[in-house]
Formats: sequence, structure tokens, C-alpha cells
Amino acid sequence: MSENKIPYKIYLEEDEMPKAWYNVRADMKNKPAPLLNPGTLQPMTAEELGGVFCEELVAQELDNENAYIEIPQEIRDFYKMYRPSPLVRAYCLEEKLQTPAKIYYKFEGNNTSGSHKLNSAIAQAYYAKKQGLKGVTTETGAGQWGTALSMACSYFDLDCKVYMVKVSYEQKPFRREVMRVYGASVTPSPSMDTEIGKKINAEHPGTTGSLGCAISEAVEVAVKNPGYRYVLGSVLNQVLLHQSVIGLETKAALDKYNIKPDVIIGCAGGGSNLGGLISPFMGEKLRGEADYEIIAVEPASCPSFTRGVYAYDFADTGMVCPLAKMYTLGSDFIPSANHAGGLRYHGMSPVLSQLYDDGLMKAVSVEQTKVFEAAEQFARVEGILPAPESSHAIRVAIDEALKCKETGEEKTIVFGLTGTGYFDLVAYEKFHDGEMDDYIPTDEELAEYRAKLPKVE
Ligand SMILES: *Cc1c(COP(=O)(O)O)cnc(C)c1O
Repeated sequence: MSENKIPYKIYLEEDEMPKAWYNVRADMKNKPAPLLNPGTLQPMTAEELGGVFCEELVAQELDNENAYIEIPQEIRDFYKMYRPSPLVRAYCLEEKLQTPAKIYYKFEGNNTSGSHKLNSAIAQAYYAKKQGLKGVTTETGAGQWGTALSMACSYFDLDCKVYMVKVSYEQKPFRREVMRVYGASVTPSPSMDTEIGKKINAEHPGTTGSLGCAISEAVEVAVKNPGYRYVLGSVLNQVLLHQSVIGLETKAALDKYNIKPDVIIGCAGGGSNLGGLISPFMGEKLRGEADYEIIAVEPASCPSFTRGVYAYDFADTGMVCPLAKMYTLGSDFIPSANHAGGLRYHGMSPVLSQLYDDGLMKAVSVEQTKVFEAAEQFARVEGILPAPESSHAIRVAIDEALKCKETGEEKTIVFGLTGTGYFDLVAYEKFHDGEMDDYIPTDEELAEYRAKLPKVE
């Protein structure tokens, strides 16, 4: 098919939407390392995990064998309300950059929560409901995950308790209000509702909280309340599995026009959107059927892949969660002020960590002001106001396209545009007023946190 036939937006028909998620672990020779019990340091059994997580999700978490897992009809029906998400050919950006590269982006911001997180939230809420639970607990940092989960829980009539990092709770009252529209209870963390919250408040009076601390609170509440389980919006294998819907749709859309990407780019916080976007492509790479250049983009202020170590670490501050082997900066690491709240986690998905360690993907880190420059350049020609997180991928996609301009290569670049930035306008304001911080942690600082990693193996 000739080039000019490719539309601005490639949509899929309802019957072309994925009917099963793809589990990339099935094709990995080196499987991601198992989660460990924080007390015994032995691999977590299904029974142990079942005390914290929903049963079916535990099965998905531990499943390294089945390549395809059927998407239940109820979830597929919900997906139909906001999916397929468009795969957009960035003709206007290409024109602006005067690049011979062909740029596509998969836009996940077309739902009220404004990001890809709803793809996994709805699945997790569905399995909680199916198990007959009363509700779920979770943490949220910037608020995207909490919003997505609130929407999913209200759809299935489940109670939803969100522990929101205090600084975000205070700075992002509108996010909190969206969650309350969907019936969630939102508590600033650290709170005085939990043992760990009381302890942290006593030790650090006036603290504005952290993601690691909010996780510990949410887990404690889930474990103490009968009929509740804890759910998490990134990092875990099950979340990457649900997010594979992004990659499967992308691949189906590209296949319609016989397009083969050369480079696939995504931002990486805990790794769920990137893991989902690349899954089917990585599967082909692992099976030796095709090759792609895959690039994870992270903030220079929180560089888990590019400057972290591959080791077992705690997922939370209270050390109540299982240990995960991942690229990590250490669970006490708190990044400097960075407006990409969704990219501030100290660790990285065990699946992506293993793939990265095996040399199957690359990672780069980018500075904040450079990210906002790219965000604005993109917004002005493509119309979408991107989330700061997503703009990390935009930065590197633009850089790759500019390289093509130098070399004359006509590479096909696909990147994940994970969400919209309407709740991030304070960050844009800081950028416009020249008040944005580009702090990069020193090697000494990183070494200090690394020294505190748990001794395992
Ligand atoms: C949460 C979030 C991310 C980062 O999370 P991953 O699990 O790494 O995908 C990226 N973009 C947006 C818009 C988010 O809300």
C-alpha cells in the first residue's frame, strides 16, 4: 500500500480488538526473578500472595508459561467504551521537524482518568469483584492510578480506599475530587489510620509522604480488613500483562498497513505502559522472528535503569511488600522535585529489568526542561496537551527523528503517548516561568542508597 494512503489515525474495528492479553514471560528464556517473602527471603507462594492480592491476579502474577490469557467478556465490553485507542501518524510533527522519519504514537489519554492505567484498573477490579470481595486498597502518587482505580471500582460497585501521598493530596485537589466523584475514599499519607502511618508521622513530623510509605499503608489496611485486597498500578507482572492490550492494538493497526517499526519508545516509571506497548514486538524479537530497537526513557532525576543496580529490593518503605529483583535506586531513594509524578518510583518492573539485563532493550535518561520543551513542541503541532510522563517519550522520539534528518534515514518510529497533562499545569507554569529544577543525583548520593539495599543471595 502506498505511503499516502496511511490515515492520520489508524483505528481498529471492535471485532479486531484483542481477545486475549499476551504474556511476554512465556517467550522469555530468562524468566523474571520471583518475588520473595520479606521475612523468610523465600519465593512467595500463591497462598502467601493470596493474603494480599486477589486470587486470579496471583495466578497471573506467577504464570510464566501461558502466552495468551483470555480477556473476560466483561472487561472487553468495558474496553470498548474507550478503546481501541487511536494510533496516530504524526504527520504534523514530521512536517515541523522536516524529518524523513515516520512517526506514530499510540494515544492512551482518551478516557476520564487521562492515562493508560485504566487498562489494568478495570481488570483488577473485575477479578476482585469475581472473588466476592468488598473492596480494594491502593496508593497513588500523582493521582492517575487512584483515579483509574476509582473509575473501575465504581463500575463494579466495589469500595475503593486510596492512600494519596500527602504532598499530592494538597497540591492536586482536583485529582482527589475526581476520585470522590467515583465514590473512592481518599486519605492523605502518612495518615494516623495505620500503624506504619503513625510510626512515620512520629519519626518524621510534618513529612509530606512518599509513594513507598503510601504503599505500606494501603497494604496494611488491606490485610487488616476482611474482604479487602491490595492492588497496584504498575511494576507487577500482572499489570504488564493487562497493558499488553496497548501493544496488541498497536501491532494490529500497523499490520493493517504493513508497517514495520524500526524504533519503539516509551517512558518508564514502573514499566507498565512500556512493557505493554512492546510486549508483542518483544515476543517476535525473543522468538527470532523480527528485530526492533526498543528504548525506555526515564527522568535524569530518577534513573533506575541507567544508574540503578539489578538487585532484590523492597517495594515499599515499610518493608511489608514482597521483595522484587529489579533495577533499583534503593527503596529509601526520594527523587528531587520532578513533575513527572508517575516516573518517580525507585524500582522497575522485574520483566523489563530482566529484558534490559539481557540486552534486549536500551534505556536513556532525559532532563526535565528538555522534556517540557518537547512537550510544548508536540502540543503546538499535534494538538494534544501531553502528560509530563508521556513527554519523556516525546523527547526521545523527536531526538531520533532529528537524527534521521542528519542521516537521511527513513526510520519508522512508534512511541507511547500515555496520557494528558490537564492536571499538570503547575508543572507547565514552572517551566514557563523558568523555575524548573533539573537536579541530577550525584554518584555519591546514589551510592548511599545503594548501600542500604537488602542483602539477598
Ligand atoms: C503512571 C504513568 C506513567 C508511568 O507508569 P508506567 O507504569 O511506567 O507506565 C506514564 N505516563 C502516565 C500518563 C502515567 O499516568
